[in-house]
Amino acid sequence: MVAPEEAFLSVLQVGVAKVAVCSQHGGCYTQDNIDRHLAEQHKVKRKKRAQLIAELHSKGLAVSKENVQQPPDGNGALRGLAILTGYQCRVPSCGAISTNRGEIKKHCRAIHKWKSGPRGRNAKKRSSQGGEQLTEEPYEEVKVQTLWTEKKYISYFVVREPRGD
Ligand SMILES: [Zn+2]
Ligand SMILES: [Zn+2]
Repeated sequence: MVAPEEAFLSVLQVGVAKVAVCSQHGGCYTQDNIDRHLAEQHKVKRKKRAQLIAELHSKGLAVSKENVQQPPDGNGALRGLAILTGYQCRVPSCGAISTNRGEIKKHCRAIHKWKSGPRGRNAKKRSSQGGEQLTEEPYEEVKVQTLWTEKKYISYFVVREPRGD
């Protein structure tokens, strides 16, 4: 759809909406911010931008973030978006995610009253009895993506890593 020099740009279906993915910056853009992104980050000339954007519009690019639903956890990774290591709270109905282990620990302590510490006596006892898998840490390492890379809009969802074909 685009000239070779704009090969970083592609259209991605997210739920019922369509977004423009910039594979260079690993983020998604919609009608309300694609122009600025192309101008500021890629120095695309105004005329060329208008052309690209007209093309994206014709493909049904979503108007704004509000029109795009975040994918549910557990699907395949979205093409073009960065895959990050994250930590997800194991508490059912919570599922909070952070890419910062310290942050998720803080979350588990503050929200779920988790008492951390390697000296958990119960943990030791259970492990010596064998068999039982210790779930001492109430969070787990996962792979995550975010549609939006602007700090205030970052919202992670869990993805399966693509398998090497
Ligand atoms: Zn970009
Ligand atoms: Zn939680």
